[in-house]
Amino acid sequence: MTESFANGAVDGAIQADVVIVGAGPCGLFQIFELGLLGIHAHVIDSLKHPGGQCSELYPEKPIYDIPALPVCGAQELVDRLLQQAKPFNAQFHMGEEVTELQVLPDHTFLLVTSRDTRFHARTVIIAGGLGSFQPRRIGLEGSEAFEGRHIHYKVKSAGDFTGKHLVIFGGGDSALDWTLNLAPLASHLTLLHRRAEFRAAPDSVNKMMKLVGDGKIDLVLGQVASLEGQDGQVTKAIVKTNEGSDFHIACDAILPFFGLTMKLGPVAKWGIKLEGNLIPVDTEKFETNIPGVFAVGDINTYPGKLKLILSGFHEVALMSQKAHRYVYPDKRLVFQYTTSSTSLQKKLGVA
Ligand code: FAD
Repeated sequence: MTESFANGAVDGAIQADVVIVGAGPCGLFQIFELGLLGIHAHVIDSLKHPGGQCSELYPEKPIYDIPALPVCGAQELVDRLLQQAKPFNAQFHMGEEVTELQVLPDHTFLLVTSRDTRFHARTVIIAGGLGSFQPRRIGLEGSEAFEGRHIHYKVKSAGDFTGKHLVIFGGGDSALDWTLNLAPLASHLTLLHRRAEFRAAPDSVNKMMKLVGDGKIDLVLGQVASLEGQDGQVTKAIVKTNEGSDFHIACDAILPFFGLTMKLGPVAKWGIKLEGNLIPVDTEKFETNIPGVFAVGDINTYPGKLKLILSGFHEVALMSQKAHRYVYPDKRLVFQYTTSSTSLQKKLGVA
């Protein structure tokens, strides 16, 4: 971590007791545990919605090892965590990746996001799981020239594609959803998928097939081999079909939807001690080598660590006690049960 505190670095920054990086199940339960101790949290996640791996990778799968819930859908668990955390009014900043973390001379922290939102925090909790979710890149020779301008891994505004010649790559829900949404706007749309089976919802596949049958879009089974362009503008995708022939699809925008990967990402550059892609912590406070910066959930490691949601829940409960000392150095922390403490029940809005 750099100690590069420029004068005015925190001017205009959002002042926060605690910033939680990551809104997976551990980040969400952290809001609750901090809230019981009277600590308000800001939560930042690069995804558009909370839930981390549960919502992004397996929302409909049942989980069987959450204590006292014999079976619980992964998205249902996220919804329940959000409901439980609601009384504490955490502020969510979704769709923003935390790119920078600096320690300031007074041992508070400056965090900067991909949207240039700045936070000045007393304590930072990294609940970043396996890292930020990132779209799988197209990775073709020469494709870098078109990245960011003609290759779009997400659609900010459907209107941007009006009247364009589009090629959409992929066979999952994102590829099919955008095929259905952009077909009426595009001048021409080709969906390219490497095989005849689709992972997307059957209803979307049926609707897409109808558009193909009505001659409104083209479906090509094959793989993109290269992209060509002129003056920095992509003009065609060279495709190898599953029959082995090559042909060109004229296009001026490419939308690859090959799914998401998880990368440790910017966390690796913050000067926090790492063991591989994990952050070593102690098992009393779950603090990193930087005092005031904690790591909970899948991103941390210690002897005996299990990457389970219930382990993360235990970690956030213990960790919150130490965060209290940073946020309220002069206040004594009294251990209380939610069943019997009127003060906790008031915080929960039930007394
Ligand atoms: P995550 O859920 O990974 O969330 C981390 C969040 O941090 C992500 O949303 C990410 O976008 C965000 N993030 C990371 N870096 C940044 C950054 N720089 N800026 C902004 N945001 C960032 N566990 C069980 O206990 N029981 C099970 O049955 C079970 N089944 C599973 C099945 C599958 C298919 C998978 C993949 C996992 C399963 N797990 C299960 C594991 C469980 O999902 C993880 O242990 C849990 O999600 C970890 O939670 P987390 O909050 O630590 O991290």
